[in-house]
Amino acid sequence: MNFIIVGCGRLGSELARRLNQSGHTVVVVDQNKAAFERLSADFRGRTVHGEALSEKVLERAGIKEADGLAAVTNSDTLNAVVAHAARVIYQVPVVVCRNYDPRRRPLLEAFGFYVVSSTAWGAQRIEELLIGITSRAVFSAGNGEVEVYELVLPPEWHGCTWADLCSGNLGTLPVAVTRAGRAMIVTPDLKFEAGDLLNVSATFEGIKILRAQLESRKE
Ligand code: AMP
Repeated sequence: MNFIIVGCGRLGSELARRLNQSGHTVVVVDQNKAAFERLSADFRGRTVHGEALSEKVLERAGIKEADGLAAVTNSDTLNAVVAHAARVIYQVPVVVCRNYDPRRRPLLEAFGFYVVSSTAWGAQRIEELLIGITSRAVFSAGNGEVEVYELVLPPEWHGCTWADLCSGNLGTLPVAVTRAGRAMIVTPDLKFEAGDLLNVSATFEGIKILRAQLESRKE
């Protein structure tokens, strides 16, 4: 598919790397030529140097043929204007807009494109880790009969296996464990470490039992 990324900073360059690696055609736009140095050495896409508010620049980037556009500069206003133009003038099928200031998010959402607020998302995740919320749903299947939960393994369970946590609990299955940013499949002999992010698929009853099990080792 053909994607345009507007803004080649910390977010845009990482997005470009990912899309390019998964085989898509990527064009990256930035007003600062030096920003393209952030692109990985194996990046096979095209770069367009210029001001993203210029129609000529967007058209040079191929906006008329784009399947999707991500407006990910460091300005909420600019991202909103570019995303709006992409949707309304050029009818780009999928438009995603980066949002910095969470107070502006409702306004951006009213325009009708996808809004990703890394600030709000990051603050929520950091809060959860700081206050030690042990589990939260990250995906709901059907009407929520089965959900995928994410939980942080408490220190008192360091060294345990999946069987130690869930043997006899038929309402849970392991999905993945993430350690130092890398995800792994949960094998029967894998020993969890304190702070591991564990994704489990569970019924309502299953997660209740798992939460109780996690609490059982607390003084
Ligand atoms: P970052 O905050 O690291 O993701 O970087 C944001 C990127 O957006 C920088 O590389 C800026 O040069 C780029 N940028 C900001 N304003 C514009 C603009 N008007 N047109 C094109 N690129 C821009």
